[in-house]
Amino acid sequence: MKITFWGATKNVTGSKHLIETQGFGLLLDCGFYQGKRTDANQQNRNLPFEAKNINAVILSHAHLDHCGSLPTLVKNGFTGKIYCTPATAEIAELILLDSANIQKHDCEYYNSHLAGKEPIAPIYAQEDVRRVIECFKTVDYSSSDGGWTKINKNIRFKFYDAGHILGSAAVSLEIGENNGVKNLAFSGDLGRDELPILRAPENIQEAAQTLIMECTYGNRTHQPMPQIFGKVKDIVKTAARKKSKIIVPAFSLGRTQELIYILHLLIKQKAIPKLPIYIDTPLGDKITKIFPRRTHLFDDDFKREFGDDGNAAFNFNNLKYVQSAAESKSLNGKSGPFVVVAGSGMCEGGRILHHLKNGIGNADNIVLITGFQAENTLGRKILEGQNPVKIFDREYDVRAKIMVLNELSAHADREDLLNYAAGIKGLKNLFLVHTEAPQAEAFAQIARQSLPNITVNIPEFSQSFEL
Ligand SMILES: [Zn+2]
Repeated sequence: MKITFWGATKNVTGSKHLIETQGFGLLLDCGFYQGKRTDANQQNRNLPFEAKNINAVILSHAHLDHCGSLPTLVKNGFTGKIYCTPATAEIAELILLDSANIQKHDCEYYNSHLAGKEPIAPIYAQEDVRRVIECFKTVDYSSSDGGWTKINKNIRFKFYDAGHILGSAAVSLEIGENNGVKNLAFSGDLGRDELPILRAPENIQEAAQTLIMECTYGNRTHQPMPQIFGKVKDIVKTAARKKSKIIVPAFSLGRTQELIYILHLLIKQKAIPKLPIYIDTPLGDKITKIFPRRTHLFDDDFKREFGDDGNAAFNFNNLKYVQSAAESKSLNGKSGPFVVVAGSGMCEGGRILHHLKNGIGNADNIVLITGFQAENTLGRKILEGQNPVKIFDREYDVRAKIMVLNELSAHADREDLLNYAAGIKGLKNLFLVHTEAPQAEAFAQIARQSLPNITVNIPEFSQSFEL
């Protein structure tokens, strides 16, 4: 068996790990590379391997950096099965259609503004996404159906809840070869015990000699989660007093639903006033609609509050899902206090730009950053205190208060990762992926001390290992 790392090597994007055994190519994830525009364009247009040599894909979860190149794979001739959980299939469809749509609009904009240059085409279109959906073969977590899923006569696998986003899975693989059976585990992206709504990550039960593990926060310790309720409570109470707008650049998958849930619980406990909450992200709205149908995947805290009634959790009196662009713009003239959650999460496009343009100059308003802001994005500039900032084609003074909620990070921290690796029986080889080099190196040093029988590797792009 050979593993080749074709992405998320010393960076946190473009996950693609290829297992080759007895003429069969099994790809773990097929993610989009997200980064500088020219790099992303180059990497995402050209897969680093032949699509026809891939016989099957296992998809860990529906984030774009894990599923976003599946349409390219299909476009290049892949016709096999793509195994994922039912929730991942539903969410990935929305994420991929959204990606195709953004590419279409970006290309139209680029082509209409650069006269005389060669026009560019989207990397893939909606019809390619449709073909991906036809390849999906859904498999429940093994805790629900208890069994193995056979990929061919030599390879079978189980899914475990990774607790990262709805539907996310870690994979336990068993591969029969001439010289015996080999077990390999793949963490996908790992969540945290305390994340709202989702269950804690499950441990893989099978012994495995090899683990491919994410290491995004290999050198970080998270704050305990209960603080977030107090923090949100304080922000909302201040906003109510000052009649502020709380402008939240939203990540449509995960953080939007978590914020709705936290605000709902605080209102239910009468800890905050019932101020209007606007969810102004069409993608976030579509994804939130999936949640009430998946309450069997939620944690005990959720069930204590809402039982199996997911509709009650994600719909309440003062919460409104904004649909049309006109309705979104009408919020500009509305006075606070209210909360508006709008995409995109790093303020690189979408409806958030209108809300920022309209509200960032008012000292009573609050801009609430809830997630990682990549370099060169408007979100990063706001976070780092740049003033004024350019929105569309004008400079705006930043007078609003900039606040940060880091607690909603959906990734395991150093301790969680160490425990996860230590929990795999018989582990010999650990490969750290989905991580920047400093995080990986710091984690590797600690892992080598606390798990001395394990070889820790930080693979390079395109590096192969025979196992
Ligand atoms: Zn992820």
